[in-house]
Amino acid sequence: MTQSNGNQPIYILPEGYSRKLGRDAQRNNILAAKIVAETVRTTLGPKGMDKMLVDSMGDVIVTNDGVTILKEMQIEHPAAKMLVEVAKTQEEEVGDGTTTAVVLAGELLKNAEELIEKNIHPTVISKGYRMAAEKAHEILNRIAEPIGPKDKATLKKIAMTAMTGKGAESAKELLSTLAVDAVSQIAEDGKISANDIKIEKKVGAGIENSELIRGLVIEKERVHSAMPKIVEKAKVLLLDTAIEIKNTETDAKIQITSPDQMDAFLKKEEMMIKNLTDKIEQSGATVVFCQKGIDDLAQYYLSKAKIYAARRVKKSDLEKLARATGAAIITNVDTITKESLGYAGIIEEVKVGDEEMTYVRECRNPKAVTILIRGGTEHVVSEVERAVEDAIGDIISALKEGKVVGGAGAPEMEVSVGLRKFANTLSGREQLAVLAFAESMESIPRTLAENAGLDPIDVLTSLKASHDKNDKFAGINVFTGKIMNSWKEGVIEPLKIKTQAVKSASEVAELILRIDDVIASSGSGKTPQVPSGMPGMDGMM
Ligand code: ADP
Ligand code: MG
Repeated sequence: MTQSNGNQPIYILPEGYSRKLGRDAQRNNILAAKIVAETVRTTLGPKGMDKMLVDSMGDVIVTNDGVTILKEMQIEHPAAKMLVEVAKTQEEEVGDGTTTAVVLAGELLKNAEELIEKNIHPTVISKGYRMAAEKAHEILNRIAEPIGPKDKATLKKIAMTAMTGKGAESAKELLSTLAVDAVSQIAEDGKISANDIKIEKKVGAGIENSELIRGLVIEKERVHSAMPKIVEKAKVLLLDTAIEIKNTETDAKIQITSPDQMDAFLKKEEMMIKNLTDKIEQSGATVVFCQKGIDDLAQYYLSKAKIYAARRVKKSDLEKLARATGAAIITNVDTITKESLGYAGIIEEVKVGDEEMTYVRECRNPKAVTILIRGGTEHVVSEVERAVEDAIGDIISALKEGKVVGGAGAPEMEVSVGLRKFANTLSGREQLAVLAFAESMESIPRTLAENAGLDPIDVLTSLKASHDKNDKFAGINVFTGKIMNSWKEGVIEPLKIKTQAVKSASEVAELILRIDDVIASSGSGKTPQVPSGMPGMDGMM
């Protein structure tokens, strides 16, 4: 990096650093963001296509899910990475709408670039975008409809909308019911967390064999074959310590010099194990889930007491078991009381595919449940899992905010029309930025139409006409190309998908627009880069 000063170059940055300034930096960042948006665009909506991702190990993922695609792409360009962050935020905040957010961000930047070409300063565009985003938020809230936990029919439509066009399409009726039932079960006055719904996948059987278990399915077998395979009206003990002797304490101190001593020592160990298992038996527990190990001898004693035990159960599963069965997690067997035990109607070991699993069923009002997903292949169950996660995210988001909107491009067009009206009240250059924002919102219905093989100009014209007539639910029927009432057709989404997408898309656009200087090292310790390039930039250009 040199800057000429007469005939003597001045070195500001060390060798190997590159710098892009002003328009160059902007152009480059915007291009990178546009490429990212372009990549996921074709997956948007019920008629969106899937992507096949192949990693360096040759593993394949087939998916329609925006954030999954971006995470797997291992993007390196710094501005492009910022767009990936938008998708991640959307995923964390709502659990769905990742493609929408990224497409929107890409479009905002694309339209900003045109304004920059017309010599409008990026700061002005940023300001206009911020005003537009606030207005959009207002409009979205205005058109939203209320929803409550009792409205299961609408919740089911939300789940179905989330799954339309995904790998789960064929069984979306069943899967939506499972998702709604699961969320309803774990919802506790106002508090709902997706963490309380465990999704367990098992290859084999068809998607239609997927089921909701009012309790948990854990990938563990009973530790000993002499234990009962099924326990009814189970009293459940959860332990986060091992049922064995802590060897280190004894080993270090004891010196065994005679066979008698050896014998005595072993007897003592046996006694201690027996003591532990006796206490467990006396507590009345009939099933034990242990986070740590269970000694061979302990297994034997527990079997004799007809206790079902599983060992090395994951901490997260133990916590869910506590929420499902009402049991406390015990660290010291001396402290077990009647109240620390939980309850499950049936606990059994079941062979699913070629693996043994433990089903904990029929819990009383469980606050953690499991959706067991079945499907023909690994790819199918994984894509169904992502679709079900989207559905659960949408239901929870709808309930948390208590507001939903009709989808199919309706809210985006409503915002676009509203913003155009808003722009009329402004003067000067911000007006142009607000108009650019309005136009960007149309990218969602336009992409829905394009991906469905429809003529986007025709569809957008009629859609706009309907919204001009205050038809706030007017959306695109992607199957006929006609305008439909999205609400009546059951295309319903949580308000939060839309507000969050607009918020993060405009924030990242503003952020990228304000950058006029990109300074990058060529990446110490990484593979050498072309000297003039920034990390990863060359691949993108
Ligand atoms: P995202 O990752 O943004 O959620 P999706 O591929 O799930 O992307 O597509 C969501 C878009 O598809 C939303 O705009 C939604 O309104 C629209 N959509 C979903 N179902 C339908 C349908 N049956 N008809 C028309 N549009 C639909
Ligand atoms: Mg979606």
